Amino acid sequence: MNRFMNESSRSQPEEGAEPSIPLEIFREVVEQAALAISITDAHAHILYCNPAFQRVTGYSTAEIVGRNESVLSYKVTPKLVYESLWAQILRQRAWNGLLVNRRKDGSRYLAELTITPVVGDSGKTSHYLGMHRDVTEVHRLERQVQNQKAMIESVVDAAPVAIVMLDERERVVLDNQEYKKLIGELGQEPAATLLGALHADLGEEFEQGRLTGRGFTGREVRHVGRSRKARWFACSGSWIEEQDGSADAFYEPVRHQYLLLVIQDITALKEQQEAIRVNALRAVLAEQERIQALRETLFGAIYQLQAPFNMLAAAVRMLERQPGGSVADSLSASLAEALDKGNATLDTLRACIPSQSDENITPVDLNAMLKDLLRLFTPRLLADGITVEWQPAGLPLVSGRPTRLATLFKALLENAIEAIHDNRGGRRELKVSTATKPDWVEVVIEDSGPGIPEEWRYKVFEPFFTTKGADRQHIGMGLCSAQDVLTSHGGLIELADAPAGGCRARVQLPTT
Ligand code: FAD
Repeated sequence: MNRFMNESSRSQPEEGAEPSIPLEIFREVVEQAALAISITDAHAHILYCNPAFQRVTGYSTAEIVGRNESVLSYKVTPKLVYESLWAQILRQRAWNGLLVNRRKDGSRYLAELTITPVVGDSGKTSHYLGMHRDVTEVHRLERQVQNQKAMIESVVDAAPVAIVMLDERERVVLDNQEYKKLIGELGQEPAATLLGALHADLGEEFEQGRLTGRGFTGREVRHVGRSRKARWFACSGSWIEEQDGSADAFYEPVRHQYLLLVIQDITALKEQQEAIRVNALRAVLAEQERIQALRETLFGAIYQLQAPFNMLAAAVRMLERQPGGSVADSLSASLAEALDKGNATLDTLRACIPSQSDENITPVDLNAMLKDLLRLFTPRLLADGITVEWQPAGLPLVSGRPTRLATLFKALLENAIEAIHDNRGGRRELKVSTATKPDWVEVVIEDSGPGIPEEWRYKVFEPFFTTKGADRQHIGMGLCSAQDVLTSHGGLIELADAPAGGCRARVQLPTT
């Protein structure tokens, strides 16, 4: 049934029948359409064009009707495009594509064109319906976005630091050459591991940042890969929001959040800093040791001299109580004079004892200090074939005098290493661990040496007590000084058997 009617045949549609639309309405629709519409014969000669067509092309109906659509062609469109256009419409299929058109005034625009063949009753194409719109501005904006994207990508790619963008599920959505290099070197997705470390380092701050959009800068993260070699990275993160581009989110915007992570390899810098720190520690400890050795020698000499002087003093007192006589008096006077001179010498020696340097109390990171000390001992540990088990726990900083504490732990480590060294043929293991307790932190040093017999556990803290033979360069002041250091820090030291044999030194330092 013909659903289109002339004005004269307009009447109410029969019940159940499809509503008929007058032909005139169709004409008005085409005339008023915002799309540029043209109708051609089978050879693309224009028979009709609507006002929008005239507005877009600049041609009036009188100027364009009868001419071929090719009048709009600007010859930069490749011939192949026209050939495929025609191949398609000749098969009576609609064609859709982009052509560069030229207006009447010579200016060009990009036309998004749809050509639909109109097939007559005979089955032949009698006409073509062309509909197009000017998409020059849309294309310009698209190209601008593409250009900017390409530009950003090449800048990101050329950056000397690794850059990676992660979506809300922490999947990589963008990365650069440096990041790809990192994957090659670390043998896994480095962003996942680094994010784990950043979560641990930043704690709640990380989630807060995600909510408020506040990023973070220069967070140092340690990464140990399959090669077991530790690498250090400085990470900075920025939160980036993106509007969802789907149709669903057109009226109700949905935002997606991304994390832009900039990763800088600072391993070389860290190693350099570590070497400088360890060297500085070595120098400070050497100086401290020199002073300590001098103090111990002088203390030792005074201690050794004190006994005969005490005997001399006793002898003088005895002689003074004897009945007088010229021999006794002169002996007493000579001895008293010798004693005075001796005491004066002792005073001189005491005055020569170098004082402990005044050191300010500062926050001390015991884990870092122990690690630096172990690094300092590395050549000796390697030479003795000692395996080290280092088990640090997350410790708060303690207030203390860093050099004195370093001297204390150095003495304990030295004792442990020597004990293992002496234990020929046995296990050669050193275990250093730290732990946090409610009011103090604990450092435990366990060696696989012969251990300290129970009866000596307190004696070893006495001055000049040593279990080493006379051939050794020990005068037995190490543990005595260690206890001194701990007492001045309000700490404790306890010696016991290590669970697997050997000695266990447990040091406790208050945190408050
Ligand atoms: P042409 O010689 O016209 O055509 C190039 C190639 O197209 C030929 O080598 C041939 O393979 C094929 N071809 C051309 N005409 C026919 C035909 N009658 N039968 C079979 N194959 C043929 N072009 C535009 O540039 N801009 C437009 O906006 C535009 N709108 C069109 C709207 C309609 C409804 C139709 C049917 C065509 C439209 N064209 C348009 C295509 C236009 O007719 C030309 O084919 C095109 O512009 C190329 O022109 P030309 O002079 O460079 O080469």
